[in-house]
Amino acid sequence: MSILTPESVLAALKSIIDPAKNNDVVSLGMIQGLVVKDGHVSFALEVASNEGPAKEPLRHACEKAVLALPGARSVAAVLTAHRGPASPPKAATRQDRQGPLGVKSVIAVASGKGGVGKSTVAVNLAVALQRLGHATGLLDADIYGPSIPRMLGLSGKPTSRDGKILQPMQAWGIKAISIGSLISEDQPMIWRGPMVMTALTQLIYDVEWAPLDILVVDMPPGTGDAQLTLAQRVPLAGAIIVSTPQDIALIDARKGLAMFQRTHVPVLGIIENMSTYFCPNCGHESHIFGHGGARETAAKLGCDFLGEIPLHISIRETSDGGTPITARDPSSPQALAFMALADRVAEKLKAGTTRPGPRIIME
Ligand code: ADP
Repeated sequence: MSILTPESVLAALKSIIDPAKNNDVVSLGMIQGLVVKDGHVSFALEVASNEGPAKEPLRHACEKAVLALPGARSVAAVLTAHRGPASPPKAATRQDRQGPLGVKSVIAVASGKGGVGKSTVAVNLAVALQRLGHATGLLDADIYGPSIPRMLGLSGKPTSRDGKILQPMQAWGIKAISIGSLISEDQPMIWRGPMVMTALTQLIYDVEWAPLDILVVDMPPGTGDAQLTLAQRVPLAGAIIVSTPQDIALIDARKGLAMFQRTHVPVLGIIENMSTYFCPNCGHESHIFGHGGARETAAKLGCDFLGEIPLHISIRETSDGGTPITARDPSSPQALAFMALADRVAEKLKAGTTRPGPRIIME
């Protein structure tokens, strides 16, 4: 049985010539992030940010050449915008970051670990931004637990008019797509990891998002290689870190910050989720997970604190019910906390004056 190796894949790709440059795609350094695993191949084809659609035939030729190799079971090649020759990579310019998407700003909602309410914040932030008058989309890139369809009450799969470009789904005034609807849940984790970059890039570039003011990306939790790759590949205008007040989550949030700093993504700030607990019966206020930890950490790390979201059963119930609190009960204190957050985020994007990433010293 033939074993597919990165070397044999690269050898096949050397036969693919970019007619515009009269040289092969490997020699031109266009092949990035090649992953070969059990006959499954993924890689990115780096092109200038203004020539995406024109390079589609080249991308297709690359896929075809690799698929023809003995032992090749699947091939996913995506076009990504060229980051320029600088090494180490420099922050892309604002223009590069916006690219040809028709989306003014792409922002990432990230967390150091799972279960802190990252997806809940991403959903409600997106709906709140829309309510403030910004055309908003939501991309669920949380490959390890795509929960956006459930939180938005979406079912079924996105459709495509031409077999190439996906139409985003619609819910509560926003456009939305979940990576969960493209990668089946029974695919093994080991393959899902390397797939993250490829699939996410496709969900950014091969979806009819335009015209949008803001695209919110719900990132996978954690700070591993997959997340780092994402941060490098996706044209991010900024990142938001969600944390609970607990120390352990805050330590993870610090790692999240460090990751974005390494990839030159401006950090818009930290959000404290599950901050104050309000008893739905008596209104009594308590601090189950502590309080103020994210604010203190933000101050210590020199990055902005964007606000607190209370721990409230209505937030969980509305999420589980498919109608986010910002849509279900927009005048509730919980929804207003998200509206205030959205307002701050929009202001920062408008001003374009995001502070540079803070200096992080890892213990
Ligand atoms: P993550 O995306 O970080 O894994 P989720 O957004 O899926 O986390 O949230 C985990 C659980 O916590 C969900 O059941 C969600 O409804 C609940 N949750 C998140 N934030 C809050 C909050 N502020 N108040 C009450 N429940 C919350």
